[in-house]
Amino acid sequence: MSNIVAIVGRPNVGKSTLFNRLLERREAIVDATAGVTRDRHYGKSDWNGVDFTVIDTGGYDVNNDDVFQGEISKQVQLAVDEATSIIFMLNVEEGLTDTDYEIYEMLRRSNKPVYIVVNKVDSAKEELAATEFYQLGIEKYYTLSSATGSGTGDLLDDIVNDF
Ligand code: GDP
Ligand code: MG
Repeated sequence: MSNIVAIVGRPNVGKSTLFNRLLERREAIVDATAGVTRDRHYGKSDWNGVDFTVIDTGGYDVNNDDVFQGEISKQVQLAVDEATSIIFMLNVEEGLTDTDYEIYEMLRRSNKPVYIVVNKVDSAKEELAATEFYQLGIEKYYTLSSATGSGTGDLLDDIVNDF
């Protein structure tokens, strides 16, 4: 019935920054749903008059990839189960990592629409560096600066069009 967009990715890629931006001037839903765990945050947003729920995943505030087998894979699986669309966020500052490949493999198996977003593209220099993410074997990615909001419009246009 309702459209649910989950944001997944490694720690520090900028998931919560995008989440908060999508919820600007709106109230986050805090623990309003039964079974909601503290490691996921829910909020309402809309684009072009289309309402949707956003899930920010996280709770693994550890700045290394060792947590993948535990927390990250658990959060990715929960998001895949719950969401109707998934934003997979990558970080151009850190480049492509083994964990990114593992997350993408889980998402590919989900058969849900996955939007690959390269974040922290704050200037033309990062735009060029983002091409390294084609190594994931993808055909398209979106570049974003969650910090300024640039790029979010094109991404949201496509997401709500596909609902
Ligand atoms: P999360 O762990 O994936 O939720 O990442 P956060 O949203 O907490 O962001 C991690 C850090 O990256 C914070 O210091 C943010 O301010 C920073 N950050 C997020 N988005 C951007 C961006 O587009 N550009 C830059 N330069 N920094 C960003
Ligand atoms: Mg976060």
